[in-house]
Amino acid sequence: MIDVIVAGGGPTGLMLASELRLHGVHVLVLERDAEPTRIVRSLGLHARSIEVMDQRGLLERFLALGQKYPLGGFFAGIRKPAPERLDTAHPYTLGIPQNITDRLLAEHAAEVGVEIRRGCELVGLSQDEDGVTAELADGTQPRARYLVGCDGGRSTVRKLLGIGFPGEPATVETLLGEMRVTANPATIAAANEEVRKTQLRFGLMPLGDGAYRVGVPAAGVAEDRAVPPTMEDFQRQLRAVAGTDFGAHSPRWLSRFGNSTRLADHYRAGRALLAGDAAHIHSPAGGQGLNLGIQDAFNLGWKLAAEVSGWAPAGLLDSYHTERRPVAADVLDNTRAMMELMSVEPGPQSVRRLVSELMDFEDVNRYLIEKITAIGIRYDFGEGHELLGRRLRDVGLKQGRLYGLMHGGRGLLLDQTGRLSVAGWADRVDHVVDVSEELDVPAALLRPDGHVAWVGEDQQDLLRQLPKWFGRG
Ligand SMILES: Cc1cc2nc3c(=O)[nH]c(=O)nc-3n(C[C@H](O)[C@H](O)[C@H](O)COP(=O)(O)OP(=O)(O)OC[C@H]3O[C@@H](n4cnc5c(N)ncnc54)[C@H](O)[C@@H]3O)c2cc1C
Repeated sequence: MIDVIVAGGGPTGLMLASELRLHGVHVLVLERDAEPTRIVRSLGLHARSIEVMDQRGLLERFLALGQKYPLGGFFAGIRKPAPERLDTAHPYTLGIPQNITDRLLAEHAAEVGVEIRRGCELVGLSQDEDGVTAELADGTQPRARYLVGCDGGRSTVRKLLGIGFPGEPATVETLLGEMRVTANPATIAAANEEVRKTQLRFGLMPLGDGAYRVGVPAAGVAEDRAVPPTMEDFQRQLRAVAGTDFGAHSPRWLSRFGNSTRLADHYRAGRALLAGDAAHIHSPAGGQGLNLGIQDAFNLGWKLAAEVSGWAPAGLLDSYHTERRPVAADVLDNTRAMMELMSVEPGPQSVRRLVSELMDFEDVNRYLIEKITAIGIRYDFGEGHELLGRRLRDVGLKQGRLYGLMHGGRGLLLDQTGRLSVAGWADRVDHVVDVSEELDVPAALLRPDGHVAWVGEDQQDLLRQLPKWFGRG
């Protein structure tokens, strides 16, 4: 029997499947679309996702196809440079179109042995005590011990499970597409400068091959957002917002997106779970959705693998919901706030000016950047050292870099004392005896997702913590 069926082969599903495979879990990805989509949604990775790629040995291939940009300007598009000395070895944004991210994640998944079936739509599911049976559009019924819905914002899995998805419908909509224009670059640059003073949902971005990525506010909110806009819709809206349609023609693809904001009531129902857009949707402000999904997968992968492998301590799998749902709730909130700050109304514009002034205080700027890049996340592991619950940044060791030792997705005890032991857990936790000038704690126990589960130097204390995360020794 298959261990885990992942419904949806977008970035979340692919990342999750690869994480499961690192632990030998037999995983099948079902992807509805026969071919990868041509539509490019996300344009980049933030610091925490860049760290995640580094922790799994994928960073070089992302860097080779991406472009580093300075951090800053992400909070509601307010142009302020990022503060110095952010708590990460990767204080930049990696510009990389989503279709390339998806391709790289699919290649990695294939390398680690994930089976991806394209052209397979999940249309039904049922579960019992032992497993979940998926029903596919072609009539086949694969069965697995667990199923994870990574099937996007309109998630079939979420609906079939009857999980509530409360929130607000879209109030504004933006048309987005890639096309050619006859207007010259100077005209376009001038229009970008002028119109974006008040309308931040407008913009023409050169793609380097003569085409442009064009965004423009729609006239209203479409009844069915799955129906793409026409070229005439684009031309009309460009004229209405910028006074010219820039001679736009020859679209590669046209789409629309809104600001509907919703969060799943539960991330788990029995043997079925949700991750990524299937669990949360919000406006693209700040560029966070794909990052959030990848980080959901990073949190869930090792926990579900532990459950499948039989060593998961009680409550470990449920900690996925308790840790990740508040993170998504916070992203929903900050995107709502950013959308308000991007409104052209005088009230929100005044608040925007005020927030912009506040960002001149370094602490405020740092707080907002840590939020958007997700490096400030701290899970609630109870009282303790300030590192507890946070992910540890990459630090230099005598034998290399910390993240370079985490590619296998196992737990890790970084022991600067040389006196500790993980005997009994050595099949799940690596013991690294080394020192780092960048780390002033005697030892730290890291979960496979890099979050700090324990800090200290007392073996008895460590022995109390190990079973909490890694089961019986
Ligand atoms: C305009 C725009 C710009 C964005 N920019 C950014 C950005 O800069 N940064 C960022 O982090 N995020 C951004 N996002 C958000 C990002 O695109 C999404 O959050 C991300 O794609 C979510 O990944 P996912 O894998 O959870 O879902 P999806 O990417 O939606 O993947 C779901 C997959 O499931 C498949 N599927 C659906 N139903 C079924 C079914 N029944 N059976 C089998 N397969 C199914 C679909 O075909 C799809 O491949 C942007 C979004 C938009 C609209």
